[in-house]
Amino acid sequence: MSRGSSVPSSAPSGPSAVSWPTPSPDASPDASPDASPDASPDSFCVPSSVLDAPPSGSVFMHAKPGLSASVLRHRKDLDRLPIAAAERARSQAAEQAYNVRAPSQYLQQIDWANARDPVRLQVVPQAEELSFDPREVDDPIGDQRHSPVPRLVHRYPDRVLLMPTYRCAVYCRHCFRKETVDDEDARFRLSSLEPALSYIAEHAEIREVIVTGGDPLVLSNAQLAQLRSRLDAIPHLRLLRVHTRLPVVQPSRVTAGLVRAFKGRLMVCIVTHFNHPREISEPTVVAARTLREAGFMLLNQTVLLRGINDDPQTLQTLFRELVYTLGIKPYYLHHCDLTKGLTHLRTTIDAGLAIMGRLRGHTSGVCLPQYVLDLPQGHGKTPLGPLFVESRSGFDWVFRSFRGESCPYTEVVAENPLKPVAEAASDGK
Ligand code: SF4
Repeated sequence: MSRGSSVPSSAPSGPSAVSWPTPSPDASPDASPDASPDASPDSFCVPSSVLDAPPSGSVFMHAKPGLSASVLRHRKDLDRLPIAAAERARSQAAEQAYNVRAPSQYLQQIDWANARDPVRLQVVPQAEELSFDPREVDDPIGDQRHSPVPRLVHRYPDRVLLMPTYRCAVYCRHCFRKETVDDEDARFRLSSLEPALSYIAEHAEIREVIVTGGDPLVLSNAQLAQLRSRLDAIPHLRLLRVHTRLPVVQPSRVTAGLVRAFKGRLMVCIVTHFNHPREISEPTVVAARTLREAGFMLLNQTVLLRGINDDPQTLQTLFRELVYTLGIKPYYLHHCDLTKGLTHLRTTIDAGLAIMGRLRGHTSGVCLPQYVLDLPQGHGKTPLGPLFVESRSGFDWVFRSFRGESCPYTEVVAENPLKPVAEAASDGK
């Protein structure tokens, strides 16, 4: 797509900051694999036409010649990218170790003249990925130790992760599950999910199923509908949450057929993964509108990435445009996990706290996500917040305002009755 249609990191944030035409979602060709002969009822398969369908619409007429049909699907495709020989050599070393993939719609967001382009850095392998610090791990958030049956993680009491596929439309260089996501998982039987579905049915405390992976939207609409209807039939479930990067990297995947696949008894929440304002484009606007108009709740997770989005202005623009342009609530800003080979992308916690401190008060609370750290070994998320408490004595606090002023605050509660004047005066001596 035209890079001119992306939201520049320096874009003003007012209502007129981003203005696009409003094509009907139904005008887009349905990239649904429903009609694929591969989509048998009991097999999960991903026709390449789903992942790599060419984009449509006039916005793509400005795509750089020669790149419009490009897709990063196989390691040999790296040879076709317009990158310098030195970088290609570095990429080829790294791609031996980890999966490589990106749909053409996402590749067209890249400014190839900029070696530090934020989209490029998320998809083109870097040699630094091969520098492992021994303190980094394969399973940074402890999925395995909380997996009672295959393809399911039960870390928190009332919700589980369900992995119907480990395949993705894009292999993000910062992926925290990069040791698990795999193209080899393109085809398998629904029967492989039966132990997980039985586990969910047997645990009445589970309210929420988070369908993740991999990326569940690489499955066909028929397969997703089949899975959704199995979950619908489990009476104690209330919410179906879908974690996906497809609306970002291949927004044409969001179609009326996909919406129908998710419509059922359960409340539906789609959690997208935008990391940079440059990822917001006209097709993503259309995709978000389609999901919003379907009545789905829309949230977004962002990973804090050194050299990609680790500055307040970039993240403020991203968080504002997620809400003001896409109608997606920023949910979490993740501190980059201790995944192997990500030292070059990981910021300090202090840097993340400083960014959140700069944003708070200057950015609407609706637009602010919670900054979180996933504790290693599966201990779950812990919030990371800038400290706004300067001091405390009993019920008397001193807070720091977002402008840096010291603001005393006394709790007026039954536990802190008003003291007689003389007693209060002696307290103050
Ligand atoms: S889409 Fe998600 S699971 Fe897949 S590579 Fe990217 S971050 Fe990892």
